[in-house]
Amino acid sequence: MSFDQIPAHVWPRTAKRRADGTVEIAGVSLVDLAREYGTPLMVMDKQDFVSRCRDMAQAFGGGHNVHYASKAFLTSEIARWVAAEGLHLDVASAGELAVALRADFPPADITAHGNNKSLEFLRTCVVRGVGTVVLDSFQELERLNTVAAGAGVVQEVLVRVKPGVEAHTHEFIATSHEDQKFGFSLASGRAYEAAVAAHEAPNLKLKGLHCHVGSQVFDAEGFKLAAERILELYKQLVDVVGADDLTVLDLGGGYGIAYTEDEEPLDVDAVAHDLITAVDKTAAELGIEAPQVMVEPGRAIAGPSTVTIYEVGTVKDVHIDADTTRRYLAVDGGMSDNIRPALYDAAYDVRVVDGTVSGALIATRIVGSHCESGDILLSDAQLPDDIIAGRLVGFAATGAYCYAMSSRYNMALRPAVVVVEGGRASLMLRRETMDDYFALEV
Ligand SMILES: *Cc1c(COP(=O)(O)O)cnc(C)c1O
Repeated sequence: MSFDQIPAHVWPRTAKRRADGTVEIAGVSLVDLAREYGTPLMVMDKQDFVSRCRDMAQAFGGGHNVHYASKAFLTSEIARWVAAEGLHLDVASAGELAVALRADFPPADITAHGNNKSLEFLRTCVVRGVGTVVLDSFQELERLNTVAAGAGVVQEVLVRVKPGVEAHTHEFIATSHEDQKFGFSLASGRAYEAAVAAHEAPNLKLKGLHCHVGSQVFDAEGFKLAAERILELYKQLVDVVGADDLTVLDLGGGYGIAYTEDEEPLDVDAVAHDLITAVDKTAAELGIEAPQVMVEPGRAIAGPSTVTIYEVGTVKDVHIDADTTRRYLAVDGGMSDNIRPALYDAAYDVRVVDGTVSGALIATRIVGSHCESGDILLSDAQLPDDIIAGRLVGFAATGAYCYAMSSRYNMALRPAVVVVEGGRASLMLRRETMDDYFALEV
């Protein structure tokens, strides 16, 4: 594949290279957007995001079974898109909940997560009518029961279970260690105790069980194994709680996306089918009614929708040893707008978006502008040698966990986020300014 070709399975669904060599998304030229809004710039394809919401809802039997994990990327506008598609929403902090409520997201369709929810977060959930709180500790169980009693309500809850299954890219570990902060251990019986305690707490109502096996999962195996293990606990609880009240099996998120040309995106329909079939089969073997399966995709909905545009600045040829040279292309953003390569060696697909290139491929590293040698965006690539200062490059699949994890390191200003749809662009988040920072100084 030529370097000028845009890999359709990695880039937003409406991205394409025009006859003049420049790249457009939803009919809008990325060159025009960079000129108008400056760089770095995040360009979000609304149709891509919305169509992935629909794909998920279709695969899992309706939007009410799919909770968009808002930690991947949330703004008020995104919350409104999710609501319009009939999906539910996961929040994992008081801040994410505040955005959802500001956007008038139906509180009953919100699920609250977190291993250390603040009292304020729990109170807001109870008072504003958040549909479900996922319990993560005995302390929280007590606290939430007290808060709900104070408000005179019965709060519906799930219990988060550590199933001992952990997913990593392209593989999963069936005997993952218990040594992590989320949830109640299945193996030690703590999950059973927590579920019974939640059932017995006068101001809590146990609806079901929850687990989350990890991220970037590409097949149903990890989810299936977790589901099978949890269903045994589920059966025990049906006997205690009753089949009418216990109805939900929430299997979390983690659906994988393609970040690079040679990765295959996950087949959502196939995974959903495998998963639901496995749950139905295990439930039948256990002699219980199959629970309602819920899922919480974040990355798989938001990730592919967005491309980050940077302008190339300094170009430096670094002699690594006597006969090896690596070109360093520095761009006008970096670890402040995309920490993923520095944090977990994440790889990306990069293309020149302001025209074609034809140079010889040479060893190249794309780095940011921060005072940190680990500020690397693309660590080891073969890129054409005619990518020079002033050219615009696009990093695909930056819609999840990039803006959401952004920082102000080196007093960097968060990039603008512009939404494109049907040939038009509209600013969703303006670029941060120094005055936004100065407003914090007392
Ligand atoms: C992070 C998280 C998700 C979303 O994970 P993705 O990999 O973005 O799909 C869903 N549920 C829970 C509980 C999470 O912590």
